[in-house]
Amino acid sequence: MSLREMVVVSGKGGTGKTTLTACFALLTEEKKVLADADVDAPNMALLLQPEETDRRPFSGMAVASVDKDACIGCGDCAAFCRFSSITMKEGKAVVDEGFCEGCKGCLHVCPVKAISTKFIVRGTLKRGDTPWGPLWHAHLGPGGENSGALVAQIRQEARKEALERGAPLVLIDGPPGLGCPTVSSVTGTDYGVIVTEPSRSALSDLSRIIELFRILDVPFGIVINRWDLSPELTEIIRRRCDEENWTLLGVLPFEEKAAQAVAEGRIPVEEMGPELSILWQNIRKRL
Ligand code: SF4
Ligand code: SF4
Repeated sequence: MSLREMVVVSGKGGTGKTTLTACFALLTEEKKVLADADVDAPNMALLLQPEETDRRPFSGMAVASVDKDACIGCGDCAAFCRFSSITMKEGKAVVDEGFCEGCKGCLHVCPVKAISTKFIVRGTLKRGDTPWGPLWHAHLGPGGENSGALVAQIRQEARKEALERGAPLVLIDGPPGLGCPTVSSVTGTDYGVIVTEPSRSALSDLSRIIELFRILDVPFGIVINRWDLSPELTEIIRRRCDEENWTLLGVLPFEEKAAQAVAEGRIPVEEMGPELSILWQNIRKRL
Protein backbone atom coordinates (compact mmCIF):
# COMPACT_ATOMS: atom_id res chain seq x y z
CA MET A 1 0.00 0.00 0.00
CA SER A 2 1.38 3.44 -0.87
CA LEU A 3 1.88 6.13 1.72
CA ARG A 4 -1.01 8.57 2.15
CA GLU A 5 -0.88 11.91 3.93
CA MET A 6 -4.01 13.37 5.46
CA VAL A 7 -4.15 16.86 6.95
CA VAL A 8 -6.78 18.28 9.32
CA VAL A 9 -7.18 22.07 9.18
CA SER A 10 -9.67 24.78 10.07
CA GLY A 11 -10.43 28.30 8.87
CA LYS A 12 -9.73 29.63 12.36
CA GLY A 13 -8.61 28.42 15.78
CA GLY A 14 -10.91 26.95 18.43
CA THR A 15 -12.95 24.63 16.20
CA GLY A 16 -11.77 21.45 17.94
CA LYS A 17 -9.41 20.51 15.09
CA THR A 18 -6.59 19.19 17.29
CA THR A 19 -8.96 17.16 19.47
CA LEU A 20 -10.47 15.57 16.37
CA THR A 21 -7.03 14.78 14.92
CA ALA A 22 -6.05 13.09 18.19
CA CYS A 23 -9.30 11.10 18.09
CA PHE A 24 -8.54 10.01 14.51
CA ALA A 25 -5.10 8.87 15.71
CA LEU A 26 -6.79 6.59 18.25
CA LEU A 27 -9.41 5.32 15.83
CA THR A 28 -6.96 4.34 13.06
CA GLU A 29 -5.94 0.75 13.53
CA GLU A 30 -3.28 0.75 10.85
CA LYS A 31 0.32 1.82 11.45
CA LYS A 32 0.79 5.54 11.14
CA VAL A 33 3.06 8.45 11.90
CA LEU A 34 1.62 11.59 13.46
CA ALA A 35 2.71 15.15 12.71
CA ASP A 36 1.73 18.31 14.54
CA ALA A 37 2.10 21.06 11.93
CA ASP A 38 0.37 23.68 14.08
CA VAL A 39 3.76 25.07 15.11
CA ASP A 40 2.36 28.26 16.62
CA ALA A 41 0.09 26.31 19.01
CA PRO A 42 1.47 22.74 19.11
CA ASN A 43 -1.16 21.05 21.29
CA MET A 44 -1.09 17.48 19.97
CA ALA A 45 1.67 16.65 22.43
CA LEU A 46 -0.53 17.81 25.33
CA LEU A 47 -3.14 15.24 24.36
CA LEU A 48 -0.91 12.40 23.14
CA GLN A 49 1.78 12.77 25.84
CA PRO A 50 4.72 11.52 23.74
CA GLU A 51 7.81 10.09 25.36
CA GLU A 52 10.55 12.20 23.81
CA THR A 53 13.16 10.30 21.80
CA ASP A 54 14.77 13.03 19.71
CA ARG A 55 15.14 16.78 19.66
CA ARG A 56 17.13 18.97 17.30
CA PRO A 57 17.48 22.69 16.62
CA PHE A 58 15.67 24.22 13.68
CA SER A 59 17.62 26.93 11.91
CA GLY A 60 15.45 27.89 8.97
CA MET A 61 17.13 30.30 6.61
CA ALA A 62 20.37 32.24 7.03
CA VAL A 63 20.12 35.90 8.07
CA ALA A 64 22.48 38.83 7.57
CA SER A 65 25.27 39.32 10.09
CA VAL A 66 27.51 42.41 10.32
CA ASP A 67 31.17 42.29 11.29
CA LYS A 68 31.27 45.41 13.48
CA ASP A 69 35.04 45.75 13.25
CA ALA A 70 34.91 45.82 9.46
CA CYS A 71 31.85 48.11 9.17
CA ILE A 72 32.77 51.69 8.22
CA GLY A 73 29.28 53.03 8.97
CA CYS A 74 28.39 54.20 5.47
CA GLY A 75 24.72 53.24 5.92
CA ASP A 76 24.36 51.79 2.40
CA CYS A 77 22.98 48.50 3.70
CA ALA A 78 20.35 50.20 5.89
CA ALA A 79 19.25 52.34 2.95
CA PHE A 80 19.08 49.28 0.71
CA CYS A 81 17.14 46.87 2.95
CA ARG A 82 13.48 46.87 1.92
CA PHE A 83 12.49 45.08 5.09
CA SER A 84 13.95 47.75 7.41
CA SER A 85 16.00 45.01 9.03
CA ILE A 86 19.12 47.14 9.40
CA THR A 87 19.49 50.27 11.51
CA MET A 88 22.57 52.36 12.25
CA LYS A 89 23.58 52.49 15.90
CA GLU A 90 26.65 54.38 17.11
CA GLY A 91 28.01 54.45 13.57
CA LYS A 92 27.63 50.72 12.95
CA ALA A 93 25.04 48.65 11.08
CA VAL A 94 22.86 46.43 13.30
CA VAL A 95 20.63 43.66 11.89
CA ASP A 96 17.26 42.88 13.46
CA GLU A 97 17.29 39.12 12.84
CA GLY A 98 13.57 38.80 13.43
CA PHE A 99 12.83 40.93 10.35
CA CYS A 100 15.65 39.81 8.04
CA GLU A 101 14.27 37.88 5.07
CA GLY A 102 17.67 36.49 4.13
CA CYS A 103 17.67 37.99 0.63
CA LYS A 104 21.44 38.69 0.84
CA GLY A 105 21.06 41.99 -1.01
CA CYS A 106 22.94 43.91 1.66
CA LEU A 107 25.95 41.63 1.22
CA HIS A 108 26.34 42.99 -2.28
CA VAL A 109 25.92 46.69 -1.49
CA CYS A 110 28.42 46.76 1.37
CA PRO A 111 31.62 48.41 0.02
CA VAL A 112 33.90 46.66 2.51
CA LYS A 113 32.27 43.20 2.54
CA ALA A 114 31.43 43.52 6.22
CA ILE A 115 28.22 41.50 5.92
CA SER A 116 27.90 37.73 5.73
CA THR A 117 25.09 35.34 6.63
CA LYS A 118 24.63 33.02 9.58
CA PHE A 119 22.07 30.47 10.66
CA ILE A 120 20.28 31.14 13.92
CA VAL A 121 18.18 28.70 15.90
CA ARG A 122 14.50 29.51 15.33
CA GLY A 123 12.92 26.59 17.09
CA THR A 124 13.17 22.95 18.12
CA LEU A 125 12.07 19.90 16.16
CA LYS A 126 11.00 16.98 18.36
CA ARG A 127 10.07 13.32 18.01
CA GLY A 128 8.29 11.25 20.62
CA ASP A 129 6.66 7.84 20.94
CA THR A 130 2.98 7.57 21.76
CA PRO A 131 0.82 4.45 22.08
CA TRP A 132 -0.69 5.38 18.70
CA GLY A 133 2.52 5.92 16.75
CA PRO A 134 5.45 8.31 16.70
CA LEU A 135 4.68 12.03 16.83
CA TRP A 136 6.81 14.67 15.11
CA HIS A 137 6.21 18.14 16.44
CA ALA A 138 8.08 21.36 17.09
CA HIS A 139 8.41 24.44 19.18
CA LEU A 140 9.02 27.76 17.48
CA GLY A 141 11.10 30.19 19.53
CA PRO A 142 9.81 33.66 20.50
CA GLY A 143 9.66 35.81 17.38
CA GLY A 144 10.61 32.73 15.36
CA GLU A 145 9.83 33.16 11.69
CA ASN A 146 9.85 30.56 8.91
CA SER A 147 7.05 28.51 10.42
CA GLY A 148 6.26 27.31 6.88
CA ALA A 149 9.80 25.92 6.60
CA LEU A 150 9.47 24.29 10.02
CA VAL A 151 6.20 22.64 8.95
CA ALA A 152 7.93 21.37 5.82
CA GLN A 153 10.65 19.85 7.98
CA ILE A 154 8.14 18.18 10.34
CA ARG A 155 6.33 16.68 7.37
CA GLN A 156 9.54 15.53 5.79
CA GLU A 157 10.62 13.70 8.97
CA ALA A 158 7.18 12.15 9.45
CA ARG A 159 7.05 10.96 5.85
CA LYS A 160 10.58 9.55 6.05
CA GLU A 161 9.76 7.61 9.21
CA ALA A 162 6.49 6.31 7.75
CA LEU A 163 8.36 4.96 4.73
CA GLU A 164 11.03 3.38 6.95
CA ARG A 165 8.43 1.71 9.18
CA GLY A 166 6.13 0.67 6.34
CA ALA A 167 3.33 2.79 7.81
CA PRO A 168 0.73 3.62 5.16
CA LEU A 169 -0.54 6.84 6.76
CA VAL A 170 0.81 10.17 7.97
CA LEU A 171 -1.81 12.05 9.94
CA ILE A 172 -1.14 15.78 10.16
CA ASP A 173 -2.68 18.27 12.56
CA GLY A 174 -2.49 21.41 10.45
CA PRO A 175 -2.63 25.02 11.62
CA PRO A 176 -5.75 27.18 11.58
CA GLY A 177 -6.11 30.06 9.11
CA LEU A 178 -4.51 30.69 5.75
CA GLY A 179 -0.91 31.60 6.50
CA CYS A 180 2.34 30.19 5.24
CA PRO A 181 2.26 27.18 7.65
CA THR A 182 -1.18 26.18 6.34
CA VAL A 183 0.04 26.25 2.76
CA SER A 184 3.06 24.22 3.83
CA SER A 185 0.81 21.72 5.67
CA VAL A 186 -1.64 21.19 2.82
CA THR A 187 0.68 21.19 -0.23
CA GLY A 188 1.13 17.72 -1.67
CA THR A 189 -1.14 15.91 0.80
CA ASP A 190 -3.60 13.28 -0.40
CA TYR A 191 -6.66 14.43 1.51
CA GLY A 192 -7.76 17.31 3.74
CA VAL A 193 -10.38 17.40 6.45
CA ILE A 194 -11.62 20.93 7.07
CA VAL A 195 -13.17 21.39 10.50
CA THR A 196 -15.67 24.19 10.84
CA GLU A 197 -18.35 25.19 13.30
CA PRO A 198 -21.66 27.02 13.01
CA SER A 199 -20.53 30.57 13.70
CA ARG A 200 -21.05 33.81 11.78
CA SER A 201 -17.51 33.93 10.50
CA ALA A 202 -17.36 30.21 9.67
CA LEU A 203 -18.71 30.40 6.13
CA SER A 204 -16.29 33.04 4.90
CA ASP A 205 -13.38 31.22 6.62
CA LEU A 206 -14.55 28.00 4.99
CA SER A 207 -14.80 29.51 1.52
CA ARG A 208 -11.29 30.93 1.77
CA ILE A 209 -9.65 27.73 2.94
CA ILE A 210 -11.51 25.71 0.30
CA GLU A 211 -10.12 28.09 -2.31
CA LEU A 212 -6.65 27.19 -1.03
CA PHE A 213 -7.37 23.46 -1.37
CA ARG A 214 -8.60 24.05 -4.91
CA ILE A 215 -5.48 26.01 -5.85
CA LEU A 216 -3.26 23.31 -4.35
CA ASP A 217 -5.38 20.61 -6.02
CA VAL A 218 -5.91 18.62 -2.80
CA PRO A 219 -9.26 16.81 -2.35
CA PHE A 220 -11.11 17.69 0.84
CA GLY A 221 -14.19 17.12 2.94
CA ILE A 222 -15.87 19.19 5.64
CA VAL A 223 -16.81 18.40 9.23
CA ILE A 224 -19.20 20.66 11.13
CA ASN A 225 -18.22 20.38 14.77
CA ARG A 226 -20.64 21.25 17.58
CA TRP A 227 -23.42 21.63 15.02
CA ASP A 228 -26.11 21.90 17.67
CA LEU A 229 -24.72 25.20 19.00
CA SER A 230 -26.57 26.78 16.06
CA PRO A 231 -28.80 24.46 14.00
CA GLU A 232 -29.76 27.44 11.79
CA LEU A 233 -26.17 28.25 10.84
CA THR A 234 -25.44 24.53 10.43
CA GLU A 235 -28.29 24.36 7.94
CA ILE A 236 -26.82 27.32 6.03
CA ILE A 237 -23.43 25.54 5.84
CA ARG A 238 -25.14 22.31 4.75
CA ARG A 239 -26.97 24.12 1.97
CA ARG A 240 -23.76 25.78 0.85
CA CYS A 241 -22.07 22.37 0.71
CA ASP A 242 -24.90 21.14 -1.54
CA GLU A 243 -24.79 24.20 -3.79
CA GLU A 244 -21.02 24.18 -4.16
CA ASN A 245 -20.66 20.40 -4.36
CA TRP A 246 -18.44 20.36 -1.29
CA THR A 247 -18.25 16.99 0.48
CA LEU A 248 -19.83 17.12 3.92
CA LEU A 249 -18.15 14.28 5.80
CA GLY A 250 -20.27 14.55 8.92
CA VAL A 251 -21.58 16.69 11.74
CA LEU A 252 -20.69 16.27 15.39
CA PRO A 253 -22.73 17.51 18.36
CA PHE A 254 -21.31 19.51 21.24
CA GLU A 255 -20.49 17.11 24.06
CA GLU A 256 -19.88 18.63 27.48
CA LYS A 257 -18.20 15.38 28.58
CA ALA A 258 -15.76 15.63 25.66
CA ALA A 259 -14.77 19.18 26.62
CA GLN A 260 -14.24 17.98 30.19
CA ALA A 261 -12.08 15.07 29.02
CA VAL A 262 -9.86 17.44 26.98
CA ALA A 263 -9.54 19.75 29.98
CA GLU A 264 -8.27 16.73 31.91
CA GLY A 265 -5.78 15.91 29.15
CA ARG A 266 -7.69 12.88 27.84
CA ILE A 267 -8.60 12.13 24.23
CA PRO A 268 -12.41 12.06 24.16
CA VAL A 269 -13.10 9.21 21.73
CA GLU A 270 -15.72 7.62 24.02
CA GLU A 271 -17.23 10.94 24.99
CA MET A 272 -17.69 12.09 21.38
CA GLY A 273 -20.24 9.35 20.82
CA PRO A 274 -20.99 7.10 17.81
CA GLU A 275 -21.02 10.04 15.37
CA LEU A 276 -17.23 10.20 15.65
CA SER A 277 -16.71 6.58 14.53
CA ILE A 278 -19.14 7.06 11.66
CA LEU A 279 -17.26 10.20 10.63
CA TRP A 280 -13.92 8.41 10.74
CA GLN A 281 -15.21 5.52 8.62
CA ASN A 282 -16.49 8.07 6.13
CA ILE A 283 -13.07 9.73 5.96
CA ARG A 284 -11.20 6.41 5.65
CA LYS A 285 -13.25 5.47 2.60
CA ARG A 286 -11.93 8.55 0.83
CA LEU A 287 -8.25 8.19 1.69
S1 SF4 B 1 19.60 39.90 3.91
FE1 SF4 B 1 18.02 41.14 2.88
S2 SF4 B 1 16.44 41.33 4.42
FE2 SF4 B 1 18.27 40.69 5.51
S3 SF4 B 1 19.20 42.58 6.20
FE3 SF4 B 1 20.12 42.08 4.22
S4 SF4 B 1 18.92 43.21 2.73
FE4 SF4 B 1 17.74 43.15 4.61
S1 SF4 C 1 27.13 48.76 4.01
FE1 SF4 C 1 28.76 47.70 5.12
S2 SF4 C 1 30.09 49.32 5.80
FE2 SF4 C 1 28.19 50.30 5.20
S3 SF4 C 1 27.03 50.39 7.12
FE3 SF4 C 1 26.45 48.51 6.11
S4 SF4 C 1 27.81 46.97 6.97
FE4 SF4 C 1 28.68 48.95 7.47
